[in-house]
Amino acid sequence: PGLDPDDNRRALELDRAGVFHSWSAQAELSPMVLAGGSGCRVWDYAGTEYLDFSSQLVNVNIGYQHPRVVAAIQEQAAQLVTVSPATANLARGEAAKRILEVAGEGFSRVFFTNGGADANENAIRMARLSTGRDTVLSQYRSYHGGTGAAIVATGDWRRIPNRYARGHRHFFGPFAYRSEFWSDGEEQECERALHHLERTIQAEGAGTIAAILIETIPGTAGIMPPPAGYLPGVREIADRYGIVLILDEVMAGFGRTGDWFAFHRYGVTPDLVTFAKGVNSGYVPAGGVLISPRIAERFDHDVYPGGLTYSGHPLAMAAIVATIDAMRDEGIVDNAARVGAEVIGPALHRLAEDHPSVGDVRGCGVFWAIELVADGDGAEPLDAATMAALKAELLGRGLLPFVTANRIHVVPPCVVTAQEAAEGIAIIDAALGALRL
Ligand code: PLP
Repeated sequence: PGLDPDDNRRALELDRAGVFHSWSAQAELSPMVLAGGSGCRVWDYAGTEYLDFSSQLVNVNIGYQHPRVVAAIQEQAAQLVTVSPATANLARGEAAKRILEVAGEGFSRVFFTNGGADANENAIRMARLSTGRDTVLSQYRSYHGGTGAAIVATGDWRRIPNRYARGHRHFFGPFAYRSEFWSDGEEQECERALHHLERTIQAEGAGTIAAILIETIPGTAGIMPPPAGYLPGVREIADRYGIVLILDEVMAGFGRTGDWFAFHRYGVTPDLVTFAKGVNSGYVPAGGVLISPRIAERFDHDVYPGGLTYSGHPLAMAAIVATIDAMRDEGIVDNAARVGAEVIGPALHRLAEDHPSVGDVRGCGVFWAIELVADGDGAEPLDAATMAALKAELLGRGLLPFVTANRIHVVPPCVVTAQEAAEGIAIIDAALGALRL
Protein backbone atom coordinates (compact mmCIF):
# COMPACT_ATOMS: atom_id res chain seq x y z
CA PRO A 1 0.00 0.00 0.00
CA GLY A 2 1.16 3.50 -0.90
CA LEU A 3 4.08 2.20 -2.99
CA ASP A 4 5.04 3.62 -6.37
CA PRO A 5 6.66 1.00 -8.65
CA ASP A 6 8.65 3.78 -10.33
CA ASP A 7 10.52 4.24 -7.04
CA ASN A 8 12.44 1.03 -7.77
CA ARG A 9 14.10 2.83 -10.66
CA ARG A 10 14.55 6.09 -8.69
CA ALA A 11 16.09 4.31 -5.69
CA LEU A 12 18.56 2.52 -7.94
CA GLU A 13 19.40 5.70 -9.88
CA LEU A 14 20.03 7.72 -6.70
CA ASP A 15 22.09 4.88 -5.26
CA ARG A 16 24.23 4.56 -8.37
CA ALA A 17 24.64 8.34 -8.56
CA GLY A 18 25.89 8.90 -5.02
CA VAL A 19 26.33 5.90 -2.72
CA PHE A 20 29.69 4.22 -2.14
CA HIS A 21 29.10 0.59 -1.05
CA SER A 22 30.91 -1.73 1.40
CA TRP A 23 33.26 -4.47 0.14
CA SER A 24 32.40 -3.80 -3.51
CA ALA A 25 33.81 -2.76 -6.87
CA GLN A 26 31.59 0.31 -7.25
CA ALA A 27 31.08 0.22 -11.02
CA GLU A 28 29.95 -3.41 -11.01
CA LEU A 29 27.03 -3.10 -8.62
CA SER A 30 23.28 -3.43 -9.07
CA PRO A 31 21.93 -3.53 -5.53
CA MET A 32 18.57 -5.06 -4.71
CA VAL A 33 15.92 -2.43 -3.92
CA LEU A 34 13.88 -2.85 -0.74
CA ALA A 35 11.03 -0.66 0.40
CA GLY A 36 9.25 -2.41 3.26
CA GLY A 37 8.96 -5.50 5.41
CA SER A 38 6.94 -7.31 8.06
CA GLY A 39 7.88 -10.41 10.05
CA CYS A 40 9.95 -12.61 7.71
CA ARG A 41 8.87 -10.90 4.45
CA VAL A 42 10.33 -7.93 2.57
CA TRP A 43 9.22 -6.21 -0.63
CA ASP A 44 10.36 -3.61 -3.16
CA TYR A 45 8.47 -0.49 -4.34
CA ALA A 46 6.57 -2.56 -6.92
CA GLY A 47 5.32 -4.84 -4.13
CA THR A 48 7.43 -7.81 -5.29
CA GLU A 49 7.74 -9.87 -2.12
CA TYR A 50 10.50 -12.15 -0.81
CA LEU A 51 10.65 -14.61 2.07
CA ASP A 52 13.78 -13.53 3.94
CA PHE A 53 16.24 -16.36 4.64
CA SER A 54 19.08 -13.87 5.29
CA SER A 55 17.88 -11.59 8.10
CA GLN A 56 19.75 -8.96 6.00
CA LEU A 57 23.28 -9.37 7.42
CA VAL A 58 22.08 -12.02 9.88
CA ASN A 59 20.87 -9.32 12.24
CA VAL A 60 17.06 -8.94 11.98
CA ASN A 61 16.45 -11.66 14.58
CA ILE A 62 13.06 -10.32 15.69
CA GLY A 63 11.81 -9.85 12.10
CA TYR A 64 10.83 -6.64 10.34
CA GLN A 65 8.79 -3.85 11.93
CA HIS A 66 8.07 -5.56 15.24
CA PRO A 67 5.36 -3.20 16.55
CA ARG A 68 6.66 -3.14 20.12
CA VAL A 69 10.19 -2.18 19.08
CA VAL A 70 9.00 0.42 16.57
CA ALA A 71 6.72 1.97 19.25
CA ALA A 72 9.55 2.01 21.82
CA ILE A 73 11.81 3.91 19.39
CA GLN A 74 8.99 6.37 18.63
CA GLU A 75 8.29 6.94 22.34
CA GLN A 76 11.97 7.49 23.14
CA ALA A 77 12.27 9.85 20.16
CA ALA A 78 9.37 11.91 21.51
CA GLN A 79 10.99 12.07 24.97
CA LEU A 80 14.74 12.54 24.27
CA VAL A 81 16.44 11.61 21.01
CA THR A 82 20.07 11.89 22.11
CA VAL A 83 22.13 12.19 25.25
CA SER A 84 25.85 12.13 26.10
CA PRO A 85 27.37 8.81 27.25
CA ALA A 86 28.57 10.52 30.44
CA THR A 87 24.99 10.96 31.67
CA ALA A 88 22.72 8.42 33.35
CA ASN A 89 19.51 7.60 31.53
CA LEU A 90 16.76 5.08 32.19
CA ALA A 91 16.83 3.54 28.72
CA ARG A 92 20.57 2.78 28.96
CA GLY A 93 20.33 1.39 32.50
CA GLU A 94 17.35 -0.81 31.61
CA ALA A 95 19.17 -2.09 28.50
CA ALA A 96 22.29 -3.02 30.52
CA LYS A 97 20.14 -4.72 33.17
CA ARG A 98 18.37 -6.88 30.59
CA ILE A 99 21.55 -7.84 28.72
CA LEU A 100 23.18 -8.89 32.01
CA GLU A 101 20.06 -10.92 32.88
CA VAL A 102 20.00 -12.89 29.65
CA ALA A 103 23.79 -13.42 29.72
CA GLY A 104 23.63 -15.18 33.12
CA GLU A 105 26.43 -15.56 35.69
CA GLY A 106 29.89 -14.19 35.06
CA PHE A 107 29.34 -10.59 33.94
CA SER A 108 28.85 -7.37 35.89
CA ARG A 109 28.85 -4.50 33.37
CA VAL A 110 28.07 -3.60 29.77
CA PHE A 111 30.01 -1.11 27.61
CA PHE A 112 27.89 0.09 24.69
CA THR A 113 29.19 0.71 21.17
CA ASN A 114 27.67 1.50 17.77
CA GLY A 115 28.07 -2.01 16.35
CA GLY A 116 30.14 -5.18 16.33
CA ALA A 117 33.49 -3.93 15.05
CA ASP A 118 33.88 -1.28 17.74
CA ALA A 119 32.71 -3.83 20.33
CA ASN A 120 35.71 -5.95 19.33
CA GLU A 121 38.01 -2.89 19.31
CA ASN A 122 37.04 -2.18 22.91
CA ALA A 123 37.20 -5.81 24.07
CA ILE A 124 40.74 -6.00 22.63
CA ARG A 125 41.64 -2.73 24.39
CA MET A 126 40.27 -4.06 27.71
CA ALA A 127 42.22 -7.31 27.32
CA ARG A 128 45.47 -5.49 26.51
CA LEU A 129 45.12 -3.03 29.38
CA SER A 130 44.14 -5.64 31.93
CA THR A 131 46.96 -8.06 31.03
CA GLY A 132 49.66 -5.55 30.08
CA ARG A 133 50.23 -7.75 27.01
CA ASP A 134 49.97 -6.98 23.35
CA THR A 135 49.15 -9.86 21.04
CA VAL A 136 45.66 -10.99 20.06
CA LEU A 137 45.20 -14.52 18.72
CA SER A 138 42.24 -15.16 16.44
CA GLN A 139 41.18 -17.70 13.84
CA TYR A 140 41.84 -17.65 10.10
CA ARG A 141 38.23 -18.65 9.48
CA SER A 142 36.67 -15.59 11.13
CA TYR A 143 35.17 -12.13 10.69
CA HIS A 144 35.37 -9.58 13.51
CA GLY A 145 34.49 -6.27 11.83
CA GLY A 146 35.73 -3.61 9.43
CA THR A 147 37.74 -1.26 11.71
CA GLY A 148 41.41 -0.99 12.84
CA ALA A 149 42.13 -3.95 15.12
CA ALA A 150 38.88 -5.81 14.29
CA ILE A 151 39.70 -6.15 10.58
CA VAL A 152 43.25 -7.32 11.33
CA ALA A 153 41.89 -9.81 13.89
CA THR A 154 39.58 -11.04 11.09
CA GLY A 155 40.99 -14.12 9.40
CA ASP A 156 39.35 -13.98 5.98
CA TRP A 157 40.72 -12.19 2.87
CA ARG A 158 39.45 -8.80 4.04
CA ARG A 159 42.30 -8.63 6.59
CA ILE A 160 45.01 -8.65 3.95
CA PRO A 161 44.59 -5.18 2.31
CA ASN A 162 44.00 -3.67 5.81
CA ARG A 163 46.94 -5.03 7.76
CA TYR A 164 48.04 -1.81 9.48
CA ALA A 165 47.45 -2.72 13.14
CA ARG A 166 50.17 -4.61 14.95
CA GLY A 167 49.93 -7.32 17.58
CA HIS A 168 47.81 -9.93 15.79
CA ARG A 169 48.46 -13.61 15.10
CA HIS A 170 46.16 -16.26 13.63
CA PHE A 171 45.51 -19.96 14.08
CA PHE A 172 43.13 -22.58 12.66
CA GLY A 173 40.02 -23.52 14.61
CA PRO A 174 38.36 -26.92 14.33
CA PHE A 175 36.31 -27.79 11.24
CA ALA A 176 36.11 -31.54 10.70
CA TYR A 177 34.46 -31.25 7.24
CA ARG A 178 37.53 -29.50 5.84
CA SER A 179 40.09 -30.46 8.44
CA GLU A 180 43.45 -28.66 8.54
CA PHE A 181 44.67 -31.41 10.89
CA TRP A 182 44.08 -34.59 8.81
CA SER A 183 41.60 -35.70 11.47
CA ASP A 184 39.17 -38.58 11.08
CA GLY A 185 36.27 -37.02 12.98
CA GLU A 186 35.09 -34.47 15.54
CA GLU A 187 36.93 -35.87 18.53
CA GLN A 188 40.31 -36.03 16.84
CA GLU A 189 39.70 -32.63 15.21
CA CYS A 190 39.02 -31.13 18.67
CA GLU A 191 42.10 -32.67 20.23
CA ARG A 192 44.40 -31.61 17.39
CA ALA A 193 42.94 -28.07 17.14
CA LEU A 194 43.56 -27.56 20.87
CA HIS A 195 47.11 -28.88 20.53
CA HIS A 196 47.68 -26.48 17.58
CA LEU A 197 46.35 -23.52 19.62
CA GLU A 198 48.57 -24.32 22.59
CA ARG A 199 51.65 -24.75 20.37
CA THR A 200 50.83 -21.41 18.68
CA ILE A 201 50.70 -19.72 22.09
CA GLN A 202 54.01 -21.25 23.13
CA ALA A 203 55.70 -20.43 19.83
CA GLU A 204 54.47 -16.81 19.84
CA GLY A 205 55.52 -16.36 23.49
CA ALA A 206 52.83 -17.10 26.04
CA GLY A 207 53.75 -14.06 28.15
CA THR A 208 53.00 -11.69 25.24
CA ILE A 209 49.44 -12.84 24.50
CA ALA A 210 46.64 -10.63 25.80
CA ALA A 211 43.60 -12.35 24.32
CA ILE A 212 42.19 -15.23 22.37
CA LEU A 213 39.33 -13.81 20.29
CA ILE A 214 36.97 -16.40 18.81
CA GLU A 215 33.51 -16.40 17.29
CA THR A 216 31.70 -18.95 19.49
CA ILE A 217 30.30 -20.39 16.25
CA PRO A 218 32.19 -18.87 13.30
CA GLY A 219 29.44 -17.32 11.17
CA THR A 220 30.44 -15.57 7.94
CA ALA A 221 33.26 -18.08 7.49
CA GLY A 222 30.73 -20.91 7.21
CA ILE A 223 28.62 -21.50 10.37
CA MET A 224 30.94 -24.10 11.89
CA PRO A 225 29.76 -25.25 15.33
CA PRO A 226 32.90 -26.41 17.18
CA PRO A 227 33.16 -29.92 18.66
CA ALA A 228 31.69 -30.05 22.19
CA GLY A 229 35.07 -30.10 23.94
CA TYR A 230 36.75 -27.30 21.99
CA LEU A 231 35.64 -24.15 23.83
CA PRO A 232 36.06 -25.74 27.30
CA GLY A 233 39.56 -26.71 26.12
CA VAL A 234 40.27 -23.14 24.96
CA ARG A 235 39.01 -21.81 28.31
CA GLU A 236 41.39 -24.13 30.15
CA ILE A 237 44.37 -23.11 27.97
CA ALA A 238 43.53 -19.40 28.35
CA ASP A 239 43.42 -19.79 32.15
CA ARG A 240 46.68 -21.72 32.25
CA TYR A 241 48.53 -18.97 30.36
CA GLY A 242 46.74 -15.96 31.93
CA ILE A 243 45.09 -15.00 28.63
CA VAL A 244 41.73 -13.18 28.37
CA LEU A 245 39.08 -15.18 26.48
CA ILE A 246 36.89 -12.95 24.28
CA LEU A 247 33.94 -14.65 22.58
CA ASP A 248 32.53 -12.72 19.62
CA GLU A 249 28.75 -13.25 19.68
CA VAL A 250 27.96 -10.44 17.27
CA MET A 251 26.31 -12.87 14.85
CA ALA A 252 25.65 -15.90 17.09
CA GLY A 253 24.11 -14.03 20.05
CA PHE A 254 20.56 -13.04 20.93
CA GLY A 255 18.61 -16.06 19.78
CA ARG A 256 20.33 -16.98 16.53
CA THR A 257 21.48 -20.42 17.80
CA GLY A 258 18.30 -21.10 19.77
CA ASP A 259 19.97 -19.83 22.97
CA TRP A 260 20.37 -16.28 24.27
CA PHE A 261 24.10 -16.67 23.67
CA ALA A 262 25.89 -19.46 21.80
CA PHE A 263 28.41 -19.90 24.63
CA HIS A 264 25.54 -21.15 26.81
CA ARG A 265 25.56 -24.30 24.65
CA TYR A 266 29.16 -25.15 25.48
CA GLY A 267 29.34 -24.71 29.27
CA VAL A 268 32.03 -22.01 29.16
CA THR A 269 32.10 -18.51 30.62
CA PRO A 270 34.34 -16.10 28.68
CA ASP A 271 35.94 -13.02 30.26
CA LEU A 272 34.46 -10.69 27.64
CA VAL A 273 31.61 -11.15 25.16
CA THR A 274 31.07 -8.86 22.19
CA PHE A 275 27.58 -8.45 20.78
CA ALA A 276 25.61 -6.27 18.28
CA LYS A 277 23.16 -7.29 15.50
CA GLY A 278 20.43 -9.30 17.30
CA VAL A 279 20.60 -7.22 20.50
CA ASN A 280 18.01 -4.94 18.88
CA SER A 281 17.86 -6.49 15.40
CA GLY A 282 19.59 -3.45 13.93
CA TYR A 283 16.50 -1.25 14.32
CA VAL A 284 18.99 1.38 15.59
CA PRO A 285 22.75 0.66 15.35
CA ALA A 286 24.13 -0.75 18.62
CA GLY A 287 26.65 -3.19 19.99
CA GLY A 288 28.67 -3.68 23.12
CA VAL A 289 30.92 -5.65 25.41
CA LEU A 290 29.77 -7.78 28.33
CA ILE A 291 32.48 -7.50 30.98
CA SER A 292 33.39 -9.94 33.74
CA PRO A 293 33.82 -8.49 37.25
CA ARG A 294 37.59 -9.07 37.23
CA ILE A 295 38.10 -6.93 34.14
CA ALA A 296 35.43 -4.35 35.04
CA GLU A 297 37.06 -3.83 38.48
CA ARG A 298 40.40 -3.18 36.82
CA PHE A 299 38.88 0.17 35.82
CA ASP A 300 37.24 0.99 39.17
CA HIS A 301 39.93 3.55 39.97
CA ASP A 302 41.96 3.65 36.76
CA VAL A 303 40.40 5.56 33.89
CA TYR A 304 39.18 3.40 30.99
CA PRO A 305 40.77 5.08 27.95
CA GLY A 306 38.00 4.48 25.41
CA GLY A 307 34.63 5.94 24.43
CA LEU A 308 32.21 6.91 21.67
CA THR A 309 29.88 9.92 21.28
CA TYR A 310 26.94 7.56 20.75
CA SER A 311 27.79 4.94 23.41
CA GLY A 312 24.40 4.02 24.86
CA HIS A 313 22.40 6.18 22.43
CA PRO A 314 18.83 6.39 23.82
CA LEU A 315 17.09 5.33 20.59
CA ALA A 316 19.32 2.24 20.36
CA MET A 317 18.83 1.54 24.07
CA ALA A 318 15.03 1.83 23.87
CA ALA A 319 15.14 -0.60 20.94
CA ILE A 320 17.25 -3.04 23.01
CA VAL A 321 14.84 -2.92 25.96
CA ALA A 322 11.79 -3.53 23.75
CA THR A 323 13.57 -6.23 21.72
CA ILE A 324 14.62 -8.25 24.76
CA ASP A 325 11.20 -7.83 26.41
CA ALA A 326 9.39 -8.94 23.24
CA MET A 327 11.77 -11.86 22.71
CA ARG A 328 11.16 -13.03 26.27
CA ASP A 329 7.38 -12.52 26.25
CA GLU A 330 6.92 -14.17 22.85
CA GLY A 331 9.33 -17.09 23.40
CA ILE A 332 11.32 -16.09 20.31
CA VAL A 333 14.57 -17.80 21.37
CA ASP A 334 12.68 -21.05 22.02
CA ASN A 335 11.00 -20.66 18.63
CA ALA A 336 14.41 -20.48 16.94
CA ALA A 337 15.54 -23.62 18.78
CA ARG A 338 12.33 -25.52 17.95
CA VAL A 339 12.08 -24.57 14.27
CA GLY A 340 15.78 -25.40 13.87
CA ALA A 341 15.52 -28.81 15.50
CA GLU A 342 12.13 -29.85 14.13
CA VAL A 343 12.03 -28.31 10.65
CA ILE A 344 15.25 -26.76 9.32
CA GLY A 345 17.71 -29.45 10.45
CA PRO A 346 15.69 -32.46 9.21
CA ALA A 347 14.75 -30.72 5.93
CA LEU A 348 18.37 -29.78 5.20
CA HIS A 349 19.53 -33.33 5.88
CA ARG A 350 16.91 -34.55 3.37
CA LEU A 351 18.25 -31.98 0.89
CA ALA A 352 21.73 -33.46 1.35
CA GLU A 353 20.36 -36.92 0.54
CA ASP A 354 18.47 -35.73 -2.55
CA HIS A 355 21.09 -33.47 -4.16
CA PRO A 356 24.61 -34.66 -5.01
CA SER A 357 25.88 -31.05 -4.86
CA VAL A 358 25.09 -30.71 -1.15
CA GLY A 359 28.34 -31.80 0.51
CA ASP A 360 27.50 -30.87 4.08
CA VAL A 361 24.77 -29.24 6.18
CA ARG A 362 25.43 -28.00 9.71
CA GLY A 363 24.10 -25.62 12.32
CA CYS A 364 21.51 -25.14 15.03
CA GLY A 365 18.59 -22.81 15.75
CA VAL A 366 18.18 -20.49 12.77
CA PHE A 367 21.92 -20.60 11.99
CA TRP A 368 22.63 -23.20 9.27
CA ALA A 369 24.97 -23.62 6.31
CA ILE A 370 24.51 -25.69 3.17
CA GLU A 371 27.91 -26.41 1.62
CA LEU A 372 27.74 -26.93 -2.16
CA VAL A 373 30.38 -28.99 -3.91
CA ALA A 374 31.24 -30.01 -7.44
CA ASP A 375 31.67 -33.67 -6.52
CA GLY A 376 29.81 -35.85 -4.05
CA ASP A 377 32.84 -36.40 -1.81
CA GLY A 378 32.91 -32.74 -0.89
CA ALA A 379 36.43 -31.83 -1.90
CA GLU A 380 35.80 -29.26 -4.59
CA PRO A 381 33.68 -26.17 -3.79
CA LEU A 382 31.01 -25.32 -6.38
CA ASP A 383 32.27 -22.57 -8.73
CA ALA A 384 31.30 -18.88 -8.46
CA ALA A 385 29.30 -18.78 -11.73
CA THR A 386 27.07 -21.67 -10.63
CA MET A 387 26.61 -20.09 -7.20
CA ALA A 388 25.57 -16.80 -8.90
CA ALA A 389 23.07 -18.71 -11.08
CA LEU A 390 21.70 -20.43 -7.98
CA LYS A 391 21.28 -17.10 -6.17
CA ALA A 392 19.39 -15.67 -9.17
CA GLU A 393 17.18 -18.79 -9.28
CA LEU A 394 16.35 -18.43 -5.57
CA LEU A 395 15.51 -14.72 -5.91
CA GLY A 396 13.37 -15.48 -8.97
CA ARG A 397 11.41 -17.95 -6.87
CA GLY A 398 10.75 -15.36 -4.14
CA LEU A 399 13.46 -16.27 -1.62
CA LEU A 400 15.96 -13.70 -0.33
CA PRO A 401 18.94 -15.96 0.36
CA PHE A 402 22.31 -15.43 2.07
CA VAL A 403 24.78 -16.78 -0.48
CA THR A 404 28.52 -16.57 0.18
CA ALA A 405 31.44 -18.45 -1.43
CA ASN A 406 30.12 -21.99 -2.13
CA ARG A 407 27.48 -21.87 0.60
CA ILE A 408 23.88 -20.92 1.26
CA HIS A 409 23.48 -19.77 4.86
CA VAL A 410 19.97 -20.55 6.06
CA VAL A 411 19.55 -17.68 8.52
CA PRO A 412 15.92 -16.48 8.65
CA PRO A 413 14.70 -14.25 11.50
CA CYS A 414 14.27 -16.09 14.84
CA VAL A 415 10.50 -15.50 14.52
CA VAL A 416 10.29 -17.72 11.41
CA THR A 417 7.35 -20.12 11.58
CA ALA A 418 7.58 -23.85 10.82
CA GLN A 419 5.57 -23.19 7.61
CA GLU A 420 7.85 -20.38 6.46
CA ALA A 421 10.95 -22.48 7.17
CA ALA A 422 9.50 -25.38 5.16
CA GLU A 423 8.44 -22.99 2.36
CA GLY A 424 11.95 -21.52 2.07
CA ILE A 425 13.68 -24.88 2.05
CA ALA A 426 11.23 -26.14 -0.59
CA ILE A 427 12.34 -23.19 -2.76
CA ILE A 428 16.00 -24.17 -2.26
CA ASP A 429 15.10 -27.77 -3.15
CA ALA A 430 13.33 -26.64 -6.33
CA ALA A 431 16.14 -24.26 -7.33
CA LEU A 432 18.79 -26.98 -6.89
CA GLY A 433 16.58 -29.30 -8.95
CA ALA A 434 16.07 -26.71 -11.71
CA LEU A 435 19.87 -26.30 -12.04
CA ARG A 436 20.38 -30.10 -11.82
CA LEU A 437 22.63 -29.69 -8.77
N1 PLP B 1 31.80 -9.98 14.52
C1 PLP B 1 31.08 -10.87 13.83
C2 PLP B 1 31.08 -12.30 14.24
C3 PLP B 1 30.29 -10.45 12.74
O1 PLP B 1 29.57 -11.34 12.04
C4 PLP B 1 30.28 -9.08 12.40
C5 PLP B 1 29.48 -8.60 11.25
O2 PLP B 1 29.05 -9.35 10.39
C6 PLP B 1 31.06 -8.19 13.15
C7 PLP B 1 31.80 -8.67 14.21
C8 PLP B 1 31.10 -6.73 12.81
O3 PLP B 1 29.93 -6.10 13.20
P1 PLP B 1 29.54 -4.67 12.57
O4 PLP B 1 29.37 -4.87 11.11
O5 PLP B 1 28.27 -4.31 13.32
O6 PLP B 1 30.64 -3.73 12.91
